[in-house]
Amino acid sequence: MENSDNKISQAADKIMNSRHLVAFTGAGISVESGIPSFRGEDGLWSKYDPQVLELSHFHQYPLESWTVIKEIFYDFFGEARPNPAHVVLADLEKSGLLKCVITQNIDNLHQTAGNTVVHEFHGNSHNLVCTKCKRHFGLAEVNLDVLPPKCGLCQGLLKPDFIFFGEGIPQQAYQASHIAAEKADVFLIIGSTGEVSPANQIPVHAKNTGATIIEVNPEKSRYTSYITDIHLKGKAGEIMTKLMEQISIKLKSKVIK
Ligand code: NAD
Repeated sequence: MENSDNKISQAADKIMNSRHLVAFTGAGISVESGIPSFRGEDGLWSKYDPQVLELSHFHQYPLESWTVIKEIFYDFFGEARPNPAHVVLADLEKSGLLKCVITQNIDNLHQTAGNTVVHEFHGNSHNLVCTKCKRHFGLAEVNLDVLPPKCGLCQGLLKPDFIFFGEGIPQQAYQASHIAAEKADVFLIIGSTGEVSPANQIPVHAKNTGATIIEVNPEKSRYTSYITDIHLKGKAGEIMTKLMEQISIKLKSKVIK
């Protein structure tokens, strides 16, 4: 058995015997769905100006900002479908092992895959909020053919309900994520650099309150030599598929015994 297979087997044991498994995801889990991360050579910010996600710029130039926001977060993200890593997390929830997903992503792919308990630390592009009367709208209720989109009630400017630079974390998601991290005895980090604050404190909180940290990432992150107990090096889709295979085999042999 290769070293990486050993580690996958070790991680599968930890997950199978867990009492409260929690997953924490970053941009990396959606890379195999065709959505690049923000930073890095092929990152979205190598092609687009991140200024479109600055609140003052958005309010000053709503049409210009919305034109780019629509292209990235609705036309481009809209094409994306869950990949095997998202599907495995949904299967783990169905099996009763996974208690919740904490995600920094705004692409809605965990819900599309079937996860029902998802704490969205940075919000979700599938919801919009009126900047004037604060009413919320689902994506299906808004016509993005006419930009910038306006509130049907007060004509205020609509904004995607994910956080822009400098905005605070949604309070409910913040609290729920901390509670989940505290309850976790096994904490799975998938595809996150650990550079985005305050989200990067959640896995540290889980570690400090006793969780075993399993990390899936083709690269080393800030977590790897700091809090990670088992680093499964590789792409999320491939590693999570192998991990689920191991869990299924072990569960079957447990039932037979
Ligand atoms: P990030 O912190 O989310 O890190 C991306 C990580 O993914 C890196 O460590 C990289 O090594 C890893 N990675 C790359 N390919 C992978 C794969 N196939 N499998 C597993 N891991 C892989 O970095 P960011 O892009 O700077 O993100 C900043 C913030 O913006 C984060 O909160 C992020 O979640 C959010 N964001 C969300 C989306 C989305 O909704 N899909 C896309 C881009 C950024």
